[in-house]
Amino acid sequence: MNIALIGLGNMGLPMAANLLKAGHTVAGYDLAAANLAAHTAQGGRAASSVADAVAGADMVLTMLPAGKHVSAVYADILAAVTTRPLLVDSSTIDVATARDVAAKAAAAGMEMLDAPVSGGVGGAVAGTLTFMCGGTDAGFAAAQPVLQAMGRNIIHAGAAGAGQAAKACNNMMLAISMIGVAEGFVLGEKLGLDRQKLFDITSTATGQSWALTAYCPAPGPVPAAPSNRDYAPGFAAALMLKDLGLAQQAAQQAGAATPMGEHALRIYQALNDAGEGGQDFSVVFRYLAAMQRAEA
Ligand code: NAD
Repeated sequence: MNIALIGLGNMGLPMAANLLKAGHTVAGYDLAAANLAAHTAQGGRAASSVADAVAGADMVLTMLPAGKHVSAVYADILAAVTTRPLLVDSSTIDVATARDVAAKAAAAGMEMLDAPVSGGVGGAVAGTLTFMCGGTDAGFAAAQPVLQAMGRNIIHAGAAGAGQAAKACNNMMLAISMIGVAEGFVLGEKLGLDRQKLFDITSTATGQSWALTAYCPAPGPVPAAPSNRDYAPGFAAALMLKDLGLAQQAAQQAGAATPMGEHALRIYQALNDAGEGGQDFSVVFRYLAAMQRAEA
């Protein structure tokens, strides 16, 4: 396939590499010259503009920072295309913008999927991302074989916007459970519990969660976790803050009560303000461990 990939950043560049490996041609475009050069070095074509990238494309994939970038780039894409490529946006953005862009694409006669990912840069490099897709059955069926070159689990969540909705729900759950695990270890240690013993008990009891068993925020019990490399990401706390903001925006629009999600956002905001945004999001353990209880 002729694929245009717009947004060759931390995620887009390795995703392009996996598309090239699968035998597709990839015309890449990014505002940063260094990213275009890296795409050329991995065997792709560096396009000179969005219009140049999408010329003759069978599929257009975008991997951009936020909703405003996606809206602006899709205005350019829809104005430039002469064929009717399949459009897939894998950026993590708000549900409302995802639905708005998909409606504009549909009005122009094109299938569009929102297909945000989980798995991070490691998953993008290894080609093991999870894609959560929103769109029509036909759009999903057309995109699936291409997404398989970059991911392991490709799931059709529902109609346009459903992929972004699923991603917001997942990351809100993850933030809440990560803070919960971190608080458990902070309290356990203040109560004089041995960290490993607490892990051995809770990981086989009802406190068990992915945040505990795969990603323990307290250093020691899970050797591969970022807590054992001074919280080098992994998944940066600043990105978790972004995703918690998207979840709250969606919750407000949908009228959903999510008090723990709101509180998790406040904690990640404070952590970010304290200069920890570049650390892995499990750094919340160190942040809480250093905090004094208000009345202490
Ligand atoms: P990034 O900032 O490294 O890459 C985004 C790229 O888009 C940059 O290279 C930037 O120059 C380019 N860009 C911005 N505006 C543009 C425009 N108008 N035209 C062309 N290029 C433009 O970000 P990333 O880490 O690759 O993340 C991309 C998306 O994936 C984000 O929405 C993020 O939330 C999501 N995501 C990231 C991770 C992660 O671990 N990094 C994990 C899951 C999801």
